[in-house]
Amino acid sequence: MSERLSNFVAGRWQAGTGAGTALFDPVLGTELVRVDATGLDLPAAFAFAREQGGAALRAMTYAQRAAMLAALGKVLQAHRDVYYEIATANSGTVKNDSAVDIDGGLFTLGVYAKLGAGLGAQRHLLDGDAARLGKDPLFQSQHVLVPTRGVALFINAFNFPSWGLWEKAAPALLSGVPVIVKPATATAWLTQRMVQDVVNAGVLPAGALSVICGSSSGLMDQLQPFDVVSFTGSAETAAVIRSHPAVVQRSVRVNIEADSINSALLLPGETPGSEAFELLAKEVAREMTVKSGQKCTAIRRVLVPEALYAQAAEAIGARLAKTTVGNPRNETVRMGALVSRAQLRSVQEGLAHLKVQTTVLHDGSQHPLFDADPAVACCVGPTLLGTQDADGADRVHNTEVFGPVATLVPYRDAAHALQLIRRGQGSLVASLYGSDAAALAASAIELASSHGRVHVISPDVAALHTGHGNVMPQSLHGGPGRAGGGEELGGLKALNFYHRRAAVQASTAVLTQLSPPAPSA
Ligand code: NAP
Repeated sequence: MSERLSNFVAGRWQAGTGAGTALFDPVLGTELVRVDATGLDLPAAFAFAREQGGAALRAMTYAQRAAMLAALGKVLQAHRDVYYEIATANSGTVKNDSAVDIDGGLFTLGVYAKLGAGLGAQRHLLDGDAARLGKDPLFQSQHVLVPTRGVALFINAFNFPSWGLWEKAAPALLSGVPVIVKPATATAWLTQRMVQDVVNAGVLPAGALSVICGSSSGLMDQLQPFDVVSFTGSAETAAVIRSHPAVVQRSVRVNIEADSINSALLLPGETPGSEAFELLAKEVAREMTVKSGQKCTAIRRVLVPEALYAQAAEAIGARLAKTTVGNPRNETVRMGALVSRAQLRSVQEGLAHLKVQTTVLHDGSQHPLFDADPAVACCVGPTLLGTQDADGADRVHNTEVFGPVATLVPYRDAAHALQLIRRGQGSLVASLYGSDAAALAASAIELASSHGRVHVISPDVAALHTGHGNVMPQSLHGGPGRAGGGEELGGLKALNFYHRRAAVQASTAVLTQLSPPAPSA
């Protein structure tokens, strides 16, 4: 039997008492390691984090916690090679795709270390200015933000075992809130290994970071009123989290990042071969294939003017045809595997579901697999579908296939395009392509109410833009409605989730004492 990964809770490494669940190499089919959380004393684990970890973190200033994040980043940086090996083995990703997860996580930590340094030697934050409560200016109200006195439980998805941890942990730790992470079982190894390296390096106070690998059973039951839970995963599990008594009865604050039918829109007025047209084709092909389409932000619907449907299909298809699929250890391979047999089945079922209302414009099943046995490897080629019935093909607007699959959708005019995009019922991101700045700005504002982020690609930023699907720590990540209604990142905005806001009503003399100390010369 393979090695069993330990859990780190209550300040020590603890193995589960069960047989464990195996993690596999999705290309070779071999068993890698096992995870198991059976028999852990969860009340003790949560109490230790809440009490010891919380107190130690809150005793530090924002600047000290920011320095701690920088130190943590250095530790992870020193072990990058091992993380790439684990990602290749357990996620089946090519180097560039592993980088999105591993280096994306490190970059996010670095950004929060810098932002936190700017908050200086404070232990609470002021929220806005004081407001007079009556005629006499002496008695006023000042809102303050203080770290919540609880733990942050992260229940994460399989597609980002590194970034998914650090994009949440950076703002939590900077806020002074201890973290307990439960990675998705299929890819838990990388998360566990990173926590192990950080713990061994001793850069965090005891109780600041815990990892529980294996079943989620009983985790939500531990949550108390000042704890928070941040979930990333499917809409079905999100519904279970939301309806748990911890949330419903104990008001535990919850953030949900769920699935999303993201769009790319080529604005009216472009011609085939125009810069904006080519930028769309390039970005769609890239988004479909990065991490084999297993990105919550990946483009699922591609909207183009009716007259450009055939040319867009051809341009995107030509790019997809160049994608070499298979074993990420083969240097010529550009797209590795899906994460598991379960995901492969799910993608095949999703494709069959969409094909009832669409036609195949580029057939992923025609891609040969390099160095990979189709009977074992969880590899699929990229598939572009298309519909001529943009309004009637409801499945296109409500089905997220979590793999290298997108659908081309023709629209009549700009209003029609925006209406079709909104049928996603709330998404993480839409990208717009065009060369008319006024039209792009107007569409961005139109889509802002149903999206967490609108990514606008015009020819002037062709070489500068950060990518439709790349989640930058400076920008909001999350989306309304179907996308879960959550908000993450967005620079210092992310700290709100881990702080409680309170109004202090007092004399101006008292309120003055709340201000941060003047920086030392
Ligand atoms: P999932 O099955 O919902 O699993 C997500 C996490 O929830 C895993 O850690 C899982 O643990 C845990 N879990 C499962 N059942 C649970 C329960 N009853 N109580 C508490 N936790 C439970 O989702 P997935 O299939 O791994 O993830 C794919 C989905 O995530 C896609 O739909 C994708 O769109 C979405 N996603 C969204 C974002 C975003 O930022 N919006 C990012 C990535 C992915 P086990 O693994 O042990 O079952």
